[in-house]
Amino acid sequence: MSQITAVELALFVFSRVQSRFFFLVRSGEAFYEIDANCTLLASALRKLREQSEKQGLCTTSTFMKRSIAMPGSFRIGKIAGIDIDIHVSWIIILVLLTVSLAIGWFPQLSPGQSTATYWIVSLIASLLLFVSVLLHELAHSLVARRRGLPVTSITLFIFGGVSNLEQEPKDAGIEFQVAVVGPISSLLIGAVCFLLQLPLRGTNSLLGGILFYLAMTNLLLGVFNLIPAFPLDGGRVLRSIIWKTTGSMRQATRVASITGQVIAYLFILLGIWLFFAGSILNGIWLGFIGWYLLSAAQSANSQVMLASVFNSVTVSEVMNPKPTTVPANISLQQLVDAYFLPGGLRYALVMQADHLVGLMTLSDIRHIPREQWGQVPVSTAMIPLSRLHVVSPQQSLSEVLPLMAGRDVNQLPVVENGALVGILSRDAIVHYLEVRRSLGVENAQSDAHNQPSRTA
Ligand SMILES: [Zn+2]
Repeated sequence: MSQITAVELALFVFSRVQSRFFFLVRSGEAFYEIDANCTLLASALRKLREQSEKQGLCTTSTFMKRSIAMPGSFRIGKIAGIDIDIHVSWIIILVLLTVSLAIGWFPQLSPGQSTATYWIVSLIASLLLFVSVLLHELAHSLVARRRGLPVTSITLFIFGGVSNLEQEPKDAGIEFQVAVVGPISSLLIGAVCFLLQLPLRGTNSLLGGILFYLAMTNLLLGVFNLIPAFPLDGGRVLRSIIWKTTGSMRQATRVASITGQVIAYLFILLGIWLFFAGSILNGIWLGFIGWYLLSAAQSANSQVMLASVFNSVTVSEVMNPKPTTVPANISLQQLVDAYFLPGGLRYALVMQADHLVGLMTLSDIRHIPREQWGQVPVSTAMIPLSRLHVVSPQQSLSEVLPLMAGRDVNQLPVVENGALVGILSRDAIVHYLEVRRSLGVENAQSDAHNQPSRTA
């Protein structure tokens, strides 16, 4: 067997299984959406840290409203107020697509042209395919914006495109419209291209070749996206339908995610079967897509489940309403002897004449050499209020959790109308969720929260 390089192998795969490539394009999009959710927290935390270093205090809402840009992207323009970004990885796929079209598709479809012609036509066809992907994303984005979901940008990257929606749809109807419009636009573009190329059939026309290529790829994009494998568009459509009929977003997500996983396993099984039936490359490819879909469905499910639990619980439900408070003017030695040791405390809020002035934790005490404990007052060693994040009792856990993770703090003072009303600790959140889970009240409460009209 002759030696082949990785690039030749990649080109071989692309030209042989070009249609299947687009399965990956679309599942890749979904995968990125999941990945974007995962990196949302990390990125939010980074921003939070930068912000809090500058201002000392900040709220979660400011960074939650900002969208997360993919690092390594550059802006090419703006359509209807939506930024269009291109990620550097997009150039790789543009080159690969052009090469596979120039050496495979066009010489086969319209033989007898010059090599230069094939290359130019292939580049045009690849660019037009990305225009199609952009239109698919624009359809999602424009409908989302019309339905009150802010969209800041669309990014084209190695696996296709992604619309950066700032939040999940609030009801089943919106979810359905936003999801279904993407595949519909792809199917429409495909149908229009197919009709346009009909008169050019059999004429060996390169324009006909481009149109036929766009027809096939767009129809595939549309059909593939309608597969009910959450978080693909079709899976979102399925979720919205179940959401509408059952009234429960969580239950709908669970069903859609399980369906997605079943489909993913079918892809994997079919891939294994093809592999052993002798169709090795196709088998590997299909298995890979299945694996991709599987991980996307699983992580989408846990993200949504967690988010809906956190959304449905407020700070007041979890906080300790009677936190231990200590005076600011006592020494560290007095603090340890009178409060921390007898009470087995890990932290205490520091008060000065009924006003919260800071937080004292075990590690803050440890930072001061023991021989100075007698002289150093609590007010010097504590974390002052200006450096503390303060939350309100009405905020949801999903709003305050990034605050905790961001500065690696374990406690947040809870303040209402300027007065201290409690403290929220990481341990208490974990404990609360554990109790909820063991009592099995998760579903009832959060569904009741999502659908106030339904009784739990
Ligand atoms: Zn889509």
